[in-house]
Amino acid sequence: LIVLENVNKWFGPLHVLQDVDLTVERGEVVVVIGPSGSGKSTLCRAINRLEPIDSGSITFDGTPLPAEGRPLARLRSEVGMVFQSFNLFAHKTILQNVMLGPVKVRKEKPAAARERAMALLERVGIASQADKFPAQLSGGQQQRVAIARALAMQPKALLFDEPTSALDPEMVGEVLDVMTSLAKEGMTMVVVTHEMGFARHAAKRVVFMADGQLVEQAPPAEFFANPKSDRAKDFLSKIL
Ligand code: ATP
Ligand code: MG
Repeated sequence: LIVLENVNKWFGPLHVLQDVDLTVERGEVVVVIGPSGSGKSTLCRAINRLEPIDSGSITFDGTPLPAEGRPLARLRSEVGMVFQSFNLFAHKTILQNVMLGPVKVRKEKPAAARERAMALLERVGIASQADKFPAQLSGGQQQRVAIARALAMQPKALLFDEPTSALDPEMVGEVLDVMTSLAKEGMTMVVVTHEMGFARHAAKRVVFMADGQLVEQAPPAEFFANPKSDRAKDFLSKIL
């Protein structure tokens, strides 16, 4: 579904993505881990065209990523993104936050969008909060709204960039539970996270990134039991 070939990107002198090759199959859950500054966020942003690349190619569903205009808007609605900072609209209610994309971008009728939004809020366990504003919700609840909002666009894939890093520990589980159920339902997901439990249980593949390179990729059981590169061994010894 997502294919990166020989992708390179620089920030000035910094070679932040170096000859990156990555294929994500439909329905696959790929967890990306690696030290701070290794390029994980940049990789996610490149897949969604939030960040232009300097060379190489990225295709989504068989089509090269569009640079601009209507095709780019369509791509963004097909590849949802969930960030560390939930990025909800503060002055709109939870329900309005989830309905907005479908109505504005997908031109859905408000009544239908509302019904689907409520069903999604139900699914992430916060239907009872629909008429509140984001600031009235806990971080875990806000992040579940952000996931519902991404799902409302009926995406073909979801990118998560450290979705639980900003949360208090007791709220991490409720967000990971939603993500795990999406994974089980066959959603294609690329997840940057430090939650190794999620990587072990929900990922089909773990990708280890360091200094802009995909150093190794393996199924989680194999990767955690037997990391091949010194950098991966070193990283795991620090976090496990
Ligand atoms: P973290 O785990 O801390 O989130 P990361 O793996 O997501 O790190 P990136 O955010 O992708 O890393 O950043 C990779 C490198 O690129 C870092 O050295 C960062 O300082 C640099 N960088 C990121 N965005 C920019 C930018 N807009 N301009 C210049 N340098 C940038
Ligand atoms: Mg990052």
